[in-house]
Amino acid sequence: MRYISTRGQAEPRDFNGVLLAGLAEDGGLFMPEVWPERSAAEWRSLRGLPYAELAARVMHPFMGSAIDLDTLRDLCGLAYAGFDHPATVPLVQLDDGLWVQELFHGPTLAFKDMALQLLGHLFQHVLEQRDETLTIVGATSGDTGSAAIEACRDRARIKIAILHPEGRTSEVQRRQMTTVTAANVFNIAVDGTFDDCQDMVKSLFADQRFRTEMRLSAVNSINWARIAAQIPYYVASALALGAPDREVAFAVPTGNFGNVLAAWAAKRMGLPISRLIIGSNHNDILTRFLAANDMTARGVDPSMSPSMDIQVSSNFERLLFELMGRDAVATAGLMRDFRATGRMPVPDAAWSKATELFQGLALSDAETSAAIRQIHDTTGYLTDPHTAIGIEAARAARLPHSTPIIAMATAHPAKFPDAVEQATGIRPSLPPRLAHLMSGTEHFTRAPNDLAAVETLLRAFVQRNDAWGTAA
Ligand SMILES: *Cc1c(COP(=O)(O)O)cnc(C)c1O
Repeated sequence: MRYISTRGQAEPRDFNGVLLAGLAEDGGLFMPEVWPERSAAEWRSLRGLPYAELAARVMHPFMGSAIDLDTLRDLCGLAYAGFDHPATVPLVQLDDGLWVQELFHGPTLAFKDMALQLLGHLFQHVLEQRDETLTIVGATSGDTGSAAIEACRDRARIKIAILHPEGRTSEVQRRQMTTVTAANVFNIAVDGTFDDCQDMVKSLFADQRFRTEMRLSAVNSINWARIAAQIPYYVASALALGAPDREVAFAVPTGNFGNVLAAWAAKRMGLPISRLIIGSNHNDILTRFLAANDMTARGVDPSMSPSMDIQVSSNFERLLFELMGRDAVATAGLMRDFRATGRMPVPDAAWSKATELFQGLALSDAETSAAIRQIHDTTGYLTDPHTAIGIEAARAARLPHSTPIIAMATAHPAKFPDAVEQATGIRPSLPPRLAHLMSGTEHFTRAPNDLAAVETLLRAFVQRNDAWGTAA
């Protein structure tokens, strides 16, 4: 299996090359050259498998000869062994025709663990094979950072530096990153927004010299391997509710468009998905796009669902590439326009194609709070703000009664205790294994919203860490 860039100017790579590179050198995102497709009989044969086994079989076609199935099966086993539910991604029925799939049973209580726990093992495996090391640099609006740090901490061949927007993540989210004590982990608190952090990471990667010098790699959802690792849970829940012999729909609280893009990929592989429902907060560029072909970036306005406080959804470029008939020149042109003007003139034909499958709903903070309360009142189920937005979007979708809707529960309610308590009067408690969080010592370095300053910090971290690694 080979991967090509959405902007058409990068050397094709195999899965391992894409895993290590993250972003393509032309600024584009890697996509599989051909989509593996499965017949109805093949989908049926996956029913009832343990999650790690199902995950390995669903993902393996994306790896081709880069990683053999037995190795992948072992890595999936290791990645999901630490989840605290025997089903890994359990389904909970909330209403007639409405289910929640809990993706938050991993070490950091958010769905990012689904992909990143596996990525840690994939990186380790490939680096050992090649006798190489690398530096992972990422930006986080909250959940990615802690999940990436948990996946990479104390791994000898990996250094990891995470930029987060200071004061714009929840306390639990910040502490999950900053209380980790590991020499290969570096937290940078940037005086700016998530988009500022993400722009800096993109610039670091675009600087070929810095990128090579530091052996940079990404774990942001621009890394294809993360998308691949998010496909299996859509398959698992669809099969459980009757696919491939019945159509299903998914509702996904969406920020960087990575999670819902994995659902799109599952459909592209042949899973019968009739609808993809996107939930957002008042940072609603995606829902505005779907409603009126208005893809205009506005400033990011902090909300109670910070993991969706995003105005530029990186992975949208992957869908755009497909909507444009895989025309890399046209895709690159639209991305250039967007960068230059803050507005993306998506051709109406491509927009119509998107609206045949996707629909969206944006909720204000007040509506999100009301949704958390209402879901709890009517079902007894406690949800974090992101999950509540997805469930509310599912309820508003008005699909045919025969179509089950599965809403993705992307974070444990205890990750956002203040929001949940304010809405319901109940303060969700952290699972016992995370009880130490609120008292641990925090480790982080502050930085101005300035690329040169961040580069200097990163160089010092890598040198310090190399010296430490040699001494140890
Ligand atoms: C990251 C995250 C999202 C958004 O997912 P994307 O893949 O960026 O669209 C939603 N909810 C939670 C809790 C998250 O951590």
